Amino acid sequence: MQDMTIGLGALQGWIAEARTNLVAARAHLDALDRAIGDGDHGSNMARGFDALSTISTPPDANLLLKQVGMQLLGHVGGASGALYGTFFLTLGASWPSEPNTPRVAAVLRSARDAVQSRGRAEVGDKTMVDPLDAAVKSLDAEEPDAALGEALARAAVAAARGRDATGPMLARRGRAANFGEASIGHQDPGAASMTILLESLSRHLG
Ligand code: ADP
Ligand code: MG
Repeated sequence: MQDMTIGLGALQGWIAEARTNLVAARAHLDALDRAIGDGDHGSNMARGFDALSTISTPPDANLLLKQVGMQLLGHVGGASGALYGTFFLTLGASWPSEPNTPRVAAVLRSARDAVQSRGRAEVGDKTMVDPLDAAVKSLDAEEPDAALGEALARAAVAAARGRDATGPMLARRGRAANFGEASIGHQDPGAASMTILLESLSRHLG
């Protein structure tokens, strides 16, 4: 029963692991942001995900994702708070009751589109959109009956490649854009945090 194994509990497991891994990566993400920003991205994410402990057990996956989005909107701060808030609110709006590869591809595509329309970043602008778009494209290329966990594992590998590809890019959005040519050669911190989120997702669904 797919909907029993990939329901609320799996998403709670995802969020819990994402929180642990983002808190563990706080200093790394702050350091990335110190090079091409103001040095707070890891602290912002850790503060936002720590605030999720106040969420009481929601009745379903959609409400969980919406509550995560609201908490991140309220507690992450910075440019990334609005964008991660949008990401989770969009997932919550259309998370499928019986997830499979095409349905999860569709909901992540909607979340990518929402983040892009909120932040006006194109693919290649050196932002969190780059690994997210890479993951969506990977999922879109899957056969419809591909096992979800395996498809998400491949999407997470694609996301990590998308993150790594931000290194040589010229930043065109957010604070990093102020660094101009000096942004080249530094990995984008939001791309790193988005990859952490997508890697942990692949370990909990499927
Ligand atoms: P701030 O830049 O306000 O200090 P953070 O440091 O928390 O916020 O987040 C910075 C990250 O947010 C960047 O590394 C980038 O990935 C992402 N970001 C910033 N602006 C945009 C945007 N317009 N579109 C997409 N992502 C963005
Ligand atoms: Mg910052």
